[in-house]
Amino acid sequence: MSKPSVALLGLGLMGSGMAGRLLQAGFPLSLYNRNREKCLPFTGAFIASTPREAAARSQIILSMVADDNASRAVWLGDNGALSDAAPGALLIECSTLTVHWIQELANQAAERGCQFLDAPVTGTKPNAAAGELLFLVGGSAQALDAARPVFSVLGRDSMHLGPTGSGALMKLINNFVCGVQAASFAEAICLIQAGGLDLNKAIAILNGGAPGSGITKRMTDRMAANDFTPNFALRWMAKDLGYAVEVGAGKGVALQTASAAMAVFQRAVAEGHGDEDFSAVTKSAA
Ligand code: NAP
Repeated sequence: MSKPSVALLGLGLMGSGMAGRLLQAGFPLSLYNRNREKCLPFTGAFIASTPREAAARSQIILSMVADDNASRAVWLGDNGALSDAAPGALLIECSTLTVHWIQELANQAAERGCQFLDAPVTGTKPNAAAGELLFLVGGSAQALDAARPVFSVLGRDSMHLGPTGSGALMKLINNFVCGVQAASFAEAICLIQAGGLDLNKAIAILNGGAPGSGITKRMTDRMAANDFTPNFALRWMAKDLGYAVEVGAGKGVALQTASAAMAVFQRAVAEGHGDEDFSAVTKSAA
């Protein structure tokens, strides 16, 4: 069976890995990125000048961009993808975004006669490049079935969580828990140092015991290597914590620990660590 044509909007750390996978798997691929240079390494893909141009050529349109503003720009901005998506096309928003924006976008997609899924992901840059993402999916089972050929190349699995917005909500809850752990670990390191404890011993106790998690271990590895090259930029963790607080408030759930963690991450951004890996929050928590 021939493969559906795919557009991918957004070639950041995650989108670049996804583009490589789609090309390798032989999907007819159109790429759009605001900064066009990031498209150039992907020989064999059509490089579109606008999201609209990429969308017009494609049966499945994926977006993997920074935040609500970026998503609005690529779908609904000047020459946005929705303006030339064919009725019946499948639109998949993979970025980590607010639930209310996802609802608005889904409504616009429906007005155009397009199918829509919110499908943010867990996993980070190397997982995107290796096709090991986990898709957290909101939308209809029918749209998910249509997305499976693409998800099977990009991910290790997809979990259907319910109607539109369910994937976005789950992703914000996931990153809320990650962000709180990261902020508390960064503060713990400050206290270890201020208290004159042996850093390596203290970290070994934390990581080897109940507080140890995938997050604390990733942060420890980065600190040991003194390498904060981003797999997941610190500024996006601040963004996700803010979105989680917002979605919680909308549902009457005050995420107090998310608010506290967000303040820790926002300070790290203000101190110039926003483009480093989220683990660089350890440089700023004191
Ligand atoms: P990134 O490397 O910072 O890339 C961001 C992308 O968004 C770039 O393509 C950028 O274009 C584009 N963009 C930003 N503002 C824009 C605007 N106003 N209009 C159009 N395009 C715009 O981010 P990433 O790590 O790939 O993450 C992408 C999304 O996935 C985010 O929502 C993030 O929270 C989520 N996510 C990331 C990870 C991770 O580990 N990295 C894991 C799961 C989910 P330019 O190149 O032109 O700047």
